[in-house]
Amino acid sequence: MTQTSPDTASSSPLETVRASIARAARLAGRKPGDVNLIAISKTQPVEAILPLIEAGHRQFGENRVQEAKAKWPELKARYPDLILHCVGQLQSNKAAEAVALFDVIHSLDRPSLVRALAEAMEKQGRHLPCFIQVNIGDEAQKGGCAIADLPALLAEARSVGLTVEGLMCVPPVGVEPAPYFALLAKLARDHGLKGLSMGMSGDYETAVTLGATYIRVGTALFGARN
Ligand SMILES: *Cc1c(COP(=O)(O)O)cnc(C)c1O
Repeated sequence: MTQTSPDTASSSPLETVRASIARAARLAGRKPGDVNLIAISKTQPVEAILPLIEAGHRQFGENRVQEAKAKWPELKARYPDLILHCVGQLQSNKAAEAVALFDVIHSLDRPSLVRALAEAMEKQGRHLPCFIQVNIGDEAQKGGCAIADLPALLAEARSVGLTVEGLMCVPPVGVEPAPYFALLAKLARDHGLKGLSMGMSGDYETAVTLGATYIRVGTALFGARN
């Protein structure tokens, strides 16, 4: 990892976000290196992504299979150490494409998808770590499994051989996110899971202080989306 001198006057959005992660991690007695920054590049063209790659950043996230397929195979061929995260709702009939394209799945949310992904991974011999997305605010319009369904979904995922690394959430908009992050962290602890995918541009520092191991940041790195 490249280290930025604190004396450096000008800083890129990437450096600013990295510095904020480090500050929040230290505040919580955590190591900054334990927090993975995923640059969410949905809607962003390759020209906007390349400067981050050239600055040494390697973890990116997309929410749609079609868009990711158009942008990433070429970049991954050029930079073989890129890690591409799927952070959007996945249809079961896109499971095979998703397994071929992505390296980590953050949106495991129902039994049919568990089965489709397990089958695709078996077939392709590619075993991707997964996060179960939890509908942490119990919102009708949001993706993710209900909190009550988490134990059964986790058991099903483990029984078909998926590697469940942790839990993921997107808290309700417009309210203090900390209680939702704390709840996700508790659910993960209760189920013996170490990974926590939580925190976006507006709240990633809070998420880091509450234990996030992956934060998903778009706007703060790329600017507003159209
Ligand atoms: C778009 C998106 C993000 C990034 O959101 P920003 O507010 O732009 O940082 C994070 N997670 C998911 C699931 C997203 O869809």
